[in-house]
Amino acid sequence: MNAQHSPLAGRPPAASDPTPAELIAARPGLAMHAMDGLTFADVPLNAIADAVGTPTWVYAAPIMRARFRQLAAALAAAGLDASIHYAVKANDHLAVLDLFAREGAGADVVSEGELRRALHAGIPAARIVFSGVGKSAREMRLALAEGVGQINVESAEELAMLSAAAAAEGRTARVALRVNPDVDAATHAKITTGRAGDKFGIPHDQAVALYRHAAGLPGIRPVGLATHIGSQILTMAPYRAAFARLAALVAALREAGETVEVVDCGGGLGVAYRDEAEGSPAALAGAIAGALGSLRTRIAVEPGRWLVAPAGVLLASVVLVKAAGNTSFVVLDAAMNDLVRPAMYEAWHGIVPVSAAALAAEPGPADVVGPVCETGDTFARGRLLPPLARNARVAILDAGAYGAVMSSTYNARPLAAQVMIDGGRFAVIRERQDHAALWAGERVPAATG
Ligand SMILES: *Cc1c(COP(=O)(O)O)cnc(C)c1O
Repeated sequence: MNAQHSPLAGRPPAASDPTPAELIAARPGLAMHAMDGLTFADVPLNAIADAVGTPTWVYAAPIMRARFRQLAAALAAAGLDASIHYAVKANDHLAVLDLFAREGAGADVVSEGELRRALHAGIPAARIVFSGVGKSAREMRLALAEGVGQINVESAEELAMLSAAAAAEGRTARVALRVNPDVDAATHAKITTGRAGDKFGIPHDQAVALYRHAAGLPGIRPVGLATHIGSQILTMAPYRAAFARLAALVAALREAGETVEVVDCGGGLGVAYRDEAEGSPAALAGAIAGALGSLRTRIAVEPGRWLVAPAGVLLASVVLVKAAGNTSFVVLDAAMNDLVRPAMYEAWHGIVPVSAAALAAEPGPADVVGPVCETGDTFARGRLLPPLARNARVAILDAGAYGAVMSSTYNARPLAAQVMIDGGRFAVIRERQDHAALWAGERVPAATG
């Protein structure tokens, strides 16, 4: 195989990958039992596959809760008056939103659909931040009518649109200006968002003038500044650079007589997919406090991935194993239409067998693929895995964020089922999509010829 042509080109050789046993040991929610096989939050994944079939997304509520509390505790320990606005786009299932709502979370939303989901799940409008580079006038009117607590504005053009919408509705929009701090988050190019030339935010050298302009516009009340520099960020240097820019802007605005109540530090904290050191809430809280603490503003954060990625797995079965020289293709019943991250971002996900016997067997290199008619439908190349027979089950790890939300029905594959584990029991939280649902809503016009 020519590595240049691999969709996962640039990855280190498989021999340096963590083994399935190491991946399990590094994740507190996972354990291998001799009889039951792999368990997740104390529930055997075999029991879920037997009851619901595969492919199935499995989420562990206790892990989501624990992570939310760990982040909240870190922000409080750093002396910050901080609110957590869960980034709905990472995993927008109502059960996930309900869980975070009960923890007291707000939400960060980027569309009418996400706003409606968050409200439907019981997240108070006042705790919702509306982000996004292209909010429509209709979305603005809805946000104003619902009383959304903060609208993050990304351009002068958007500010004018929002002012017109607010004035027409007789409402006042609480606005934070999203600043593009021109820092490189040192993550994948498709998910870095804070460099000059990225489509997001207001260039930082224009922010003070626009804030002052906003303060004079009808229907607009500027309340603060926001930034979001990217996703899957594992080091603090880019954060520190961005927060330092925001701190300088807050000082300049106050000098100019403006009020700045809140600084929204965005999301982006990364997780350990392979063997990276996971992004640390304490380190993030320290970076925020170090740059912004003395300004005594309220702080907002918008984490998505960090809260939910390790709290989900995609459970799949082996359809068949195809021999190919000194490697083999393990073809799963899950595919890129379910989990697109490997195809879209060259993302590395751990893949572990569900059976204890399989885990103990001598590993060999395998390409793990789905059945979709695209070479990009590849979960892993040259991965060292124990021999997996037809119908063997595997868990694709850390699939709780940007997993089910990015699914499609490409190749007319129904959306997979979703299950949530809590208190040692599991519940189906979305049925596997019915085939007839694939064409529900389609109309065939009467033949005219
Ligand atoms: C995507 C996004 C987030 C969440 O990013 P994560 O990397 O999942 O934490 C937060 N804020 C905004 C504006 C976003 O676009």
